[in-house]
Amino acid sequence: MSKQLIVIGGGAAGFFCAVNAARLNRLLKVTIIEKSNKLLSKVKVSGGGRCNVTHACFDIAEMNKRYPRGQHFVKKAFHQFFTTDTINWFEERGAKLKTEEDGRMFPVTDSSQSIIDCLLKEANNYGVEILMNKEVKRINAQHSMFNVQCSSGEKLQSDYLCIASGGYPKSSMFDWLKELGHTIEEPVPSLFTFNLPNHPITKLMGVSIEKAKVKIQNSKLEEEGPLLITHWGLSGPAVLRLSAWGARELKIKNYELRIFINWLPDYNEENLRKRFHELRTTNASQKIINKNSFGLPSRLWEFLAEQSGIKNEWRWADLPSTEQNKFIKNLCSYECEVKGKTTFKEEFVTAGGIKLNEVDANTMMSKKVTDLFFAGEVLDVDGITGGFNFQHAWTSGFVAAKNISEH
Ligand SMILES: Cc1cc2nc3c(=O)[nH]c(=O)nc-3n(C[C@H](O)[C@H](O)[C@H](O)COP(=O)(O)OP(=O)(O)OC[C@H]3O[C@@H](n4cnc5c(N)ncnc54)[C@H](O)[C@@H]3O)c2cc1C
Repeated sequence: MSKQLIVIGGGAAGFFCAVNAARLNRLLKVTIIEKSNKLLSKVKVSGGGRCNVTHACFDIAEMNKRYPRGQHFVKKAFHQFFTTDTINWFEERGAKLKTEEDGRMFPVTDSSQSIIDCLLKEANNYGVEILMNKEVKRINAQHSMFNVQCSSGEKLQSDYLCIASGGYPKSSMFDWLKELGHTIEEPVPSLFTFNLPNHPITKLMGVSIEKAKVKIQNSKLEEEGPLLITHWGLSGPAVLRLSAWGARELKIKNYELRIFINWLPDYNEENLRKRFHELRTTNASQKIINKNSFGLPSRLWEFLAEQSGIKNEWRWADLPSTEQNKFIKNLCSYECEVKGKTTFKEEFVTAGGIKLNEVDANTMMSKKVTDLFFAGEVLDVDGITGGFNFQHAWTSGFVAAKNISEH
């Protein structure tokens, strides 16, 4: 007799679970329930409409390091379905991926629609039923069956259930899952940029620095990487990674913090002083403003010099020690007050969700309710930017599908 699987959520994780379960076990009748009138809506807008499907990282130990929450959990699942499996899976179905210089992988078409079309075609091929505009409000697990109640009043029944409803910004939105006996790790935003209201540095909007180190005062949090100055503050990989690793800590600080930026992370104040000493001799007759030997964007160099009290006409030989000290400090440890955050439109996720110690990482099955599975962002797993969040959605969706299909 055929068994029924209901997948709640028509996003990346839900689709991947549904299409793989239907393919791996043709006796399984699979239905996706989606609350909105759109399918795969985040896939559509992701990566600026190009969908950063995964990351060209082929070492599980390296990959794990990109998940501020869920490192150990994803490790087990990656042994069953990893980046190479994602690449092959899409390629075998006509959606070939390419790698960009920074490791991010996109469809060769540079269009997220290729990924959507591929998943929709697969759902169609394997007869996955899709119900839209139906929000699941309540689930009852009774006598080895799940009774799924939708907001429309409609009730559906299934033998297996996979919850792939994504992240929610508020803990109360998880109430229908708490009723199943699961505990929720408080949701907090991750992947955001820093606001520096009225800070003079925002005059330099558009300036990007290849490598800078950003450190948060009274915290262990620090990140090195590209930094972008925007009209509201700071963005770029270094800041986004800080926001991900510090998602909880920064929330507690109410996003009000003091940061120190080292614009020349290969230097500290001590060895930069030595370098300045050399420059006083080698560049003695050159104007400081014009002679930036460190490869910093000239607008930033001029700004930091000006902030240090250095006059336009001063030459290296004239640099007084007070201004030199200020300049060294501003280059190695530039202080800014962050007040607030801005959502990173390209990619944002919610940290928090179903507590991981209540889910078996080898199967994605609940340890509390038999035949109940989870996949994707509903779990307390989140990655930094670069395709890691989708990789988790594919992996957890596949692992759940494989285990359901083998049951
Ligand atoms: C703008 C943006 C860009 C992004 N870009 C990238 C990127 O390029 N690369 C990357 O790795 N990550 C990216 N991310 C993160 C990534 O999109 C998510 O981590 C991923 O989509 C999570 O997949 P999911 O299936 O778990 O959840 P979702 O994609 O959120 O899907 C969950 C689905 O469940 C539905 N649902 C929720 N509750 C119910 C209910 N009660 N009943 C029925 N249906 C319900 C929702 O409507 C939704 O369609 C981006 C995120 C955003 C917001």
